[in-house]
Amino acid sequence: MKNKNRVLGALLGVAVGDALGAPLEFMSAEEIQATHGGSVRDMIGDGWLDVAPGEVTDDTQMTLAVAEGIALCPNDPVPAIGKRFLAWYDSKPKDIGNCCREAIEHVKRSGINDTSAAWHVAAASVHEKTGGQTAGNGALMRTVYPGLYYPPSEAHFAASVIAKMTHWHDESTMAVILYTMAISDLVAENEGIREGSGEIAWGKAQIERRMVNVRKRAEGKKITPSGYAINSAVCAINAIRDTGSFEDALVQAVNLGGDADTIGAITGGLAGALYGADAIPQRWVKKLDKGTVKRIEKLAEKAR
Ligand SMILES: [Mg+2]
Repeated sequence: MKNKNRVLGALLGVAVGDALGAPLEFMSAEEIQATHGGSVRDMIGDGWLDVAPGEVTDDTQMTLAVAEGIALCPNDPVPAIGKRFLAWYDSKPKDIGNCCREAIEHVKRSGINDTSAAWHVAAASVHEKTGGQTAGNGALMRTVYPGLYYPPSEAHFAASVIAKMTHWHDESTMAVILYTMAISDLVAENEGIREGSGEIAWGKAQIERRMVNVRKRAEGKKITPSGYAINSAVCAINAIRDTGSFEDALVQAVNLGGDADTIGAITGGLAGALYGADAIPQRWVKKLDKGTVKRIEKLAEKAR
């Protein structure tokens, strides 16, 4: 059984993190402070994508495509997700990551889009063509739902299969699997585990335990808010470790700048699963598009 408030929190968390960070994408932390006279704590819109306040980007759009594909075909979700990726691509989204664009175009060219193999061949070919440049955060950013929907024993396998539709690199897959395990733990309705320590302290410790190999992979390297999956994951878990609320975690994450919307989305998934939907500031949720919130609520209801 899943805790519904945390499931909803995780999905809404992705969307608010994405929308909060989108105006800050590709800025440095210093530029953000100078431009906005301090840290950004509200949905301000603008930025290089010229988003409206509360407008979400590819991170949320792809998360919802994954989630709806899973909810429709839980036993073989890739074809249903792939269909949604193609429709989304054809809608000419404002932003799309390189690996996702390359893999989607490969699938379109191949004329076969209704099997898992077609997507995995596409991603492997992008990996080869780019000399292994497929460890970006584009799979991690859309990966919250497997941990919300499936039982823990199935979630990480499903997550890795879905991640590898576009991102073939082992470091992306590792980050996706560990993130999924952390999400699974956080939303599990298992009060017994939490006895004796505060629920939030337990959850924060559990994120660190699950994601310790992400930290290990980053050891000795400078952590920047770049589009590299390991860096983004470390930025997200640092934001949760260093703060005591959903709001503060997200504010820390997006004000790093760099790939701010994606780091916001990744942080928002974890922080929403940790603190629950009730902890998400209403002033942020109210800025989201109503249709997006409806889709999110429906998907949260479907989590098993
Ligand atoms: Mg984005």
